[in-house]
Parts: sequence; structure tokens; C-alpha cells
Amino acid sequence: MNDQTPSRTLPDSFGRAFVLTLRETLVGSADELGDLDRRAGDGDFGTNVRTAMKHLDQNLETDEPRSYREWLTALYMAWLGVGGTSGPLFGMFFRDLAKAGEEADAAVPTIAQFANALAAGQATVQKYGEANVGDKTMIDSLDPAVTALRTAFEADAETTAVEALFAAEDAAVTAATATAQTIARRGRASYVGDASQGVIDPGAAAMALVISSARAGADGSGVANIGWIA
Ligand code: ADP
Ligand code: MG
Repeated sequence: MNDQTPSRTLPDSFGRAFVLTLRETLVGSADELGDLDRRAGDGDFGTNVRTAMKHLDQNLETDEPRSYREWLTALYMAWLGVGGTSGPLFGMFFRDLAKAGEEADAAVPTIAQFANALAAGQATVQKYGEANVGDKTMIDSLDPAVTALRTAFEADAETTAVEALFAAEDAAVTAATATAQTIARRGRASYVGDASQGVIDPGAAAMALVISSARAGADGSGVANIGWIA
């Protein structure tokens, strides 16, 4: 089986389903994410998430995206217009995701192309944000998600794209939850020092919701779990 076999490709509806699921998921968890940032940061993350999703709604109305690339472009442009540290970082991250499969001129990326784009997004966030795994940032859930995704589909040729995304989701949620045990070394949360201990990092949680929404967009369920946050 290679990446072009049906089970290894992502569905034609992937871009739309991914972005709309993420929109619903982030709108539905903005209060909880904001609360985490209030407890271990400066409290603006909930507002930043809401602003990004408001921009997204405007972009969807004016752009009427049709392809994967157009859906992801509406998403990254929405985040680039938001303040805080997370706005530009998520903006550049989603810009890299929008490029998935570009080199092969693919309408929808394969799971391998999607994994490469996630890795490129991680590299971009780390280049500009200079955070490493363990610094209590979005990198803490993204890094294990990329590894789990690749490991899942490289280890077994029978693993489907959806199964690999489930593995990535699981790794991201577990890692985001574990950030509660660490102390922030990047972003505004680093100013509160030990006070960030015991609180899940909101950016790591949001990144896990991104991976969850990608899985939900791929399996057609359109539902990402948010119950583990708070
Ligand atoms: P700010 O820290 O400027 O208030 P936000 O509240 O918008 O930014 O976003 C906070 C989230 O951004 C954090 O929970 C963390 O995951 C992420 N973050 C902050 N700084 C960095 C960084 N240097 N690299 C990667 N992620 C970061
Ligand atoms: Mg903040």
C-alpha cells in the first residue's frame, strides 16, 4: 500500500471539515482556554481565539473557499490578524499546513504530505518562538503528535490515514494534559513562574484541539473532544 491508496488519502472534504470542526471546537472551548491563560498567563488567550474565529467567519464569507488550500488559507489569514504570541505563531503554523501536498499539486494532501506539513509548521513555530519541548507551549502537544502520526503510518502499511490521525490525537491530548505538571519557560506564562504549575498550557491544549479536529475532519464525525480541558 502506498500513500495514494484510498485509505491513505484524506477525503476530498478534508479541508472544509477540518476547518469547520476546528472553528466549532475553538468557539466551544474559548472560555476554558481563556480561563487557563488567566490562571497561568495574562488571560488574553480566550479573546485571541474568539478574535481569530471572528476573522475566520469573515474570510469564509468573502472568500468562499473550495479547495483544501483555500480553506486553510482562510484559517491562517484569520490567525495572522490576531495579537498575543499565539496569533502570529498559529498563523505561520497554519500557513505551512495550507502548503500540504503543494509540491505534488495535490487537491487534498495524502497523510504523509499532511504529516510533512505539520512538521514544517512545528519547525516554523520553533524558529520564531524558540520554544523546546518541555517549555510548556503549543510545541509540547505538537511534537508528540507529529511523531505519533509518522510512527503510526510508517510502522504498518495497513494503517489508514484516520487511524494514524487517531494516534496523533491521542498523543497530543496526553501531552497537553501533562503540561499541567510543568512550569512555563516561554511566553507570558513564564512571568508567573511556579504559579503556572498545576494548570494546562492553553496553547498546548488548543494545538491538541487542532489535531483532534484534523482527525474529526478526516473520519467525517466532525466532533473533537474538549471534555479533558479545564
Ligand atoms: P501571550 O503569551 O503573548 O499572552 P497568548 O495568550 O495569545 O500569548 O498565547 C499563549 C500561548 O502561546 C501559550 O499557552 C503557549 O502555548 C503559546 N506560546 C507562547 N509563547 C510561545 C513561544 N515562544 N513558542 C511557542 N508557543 C508559545
Ligand atoms: Mg496570553
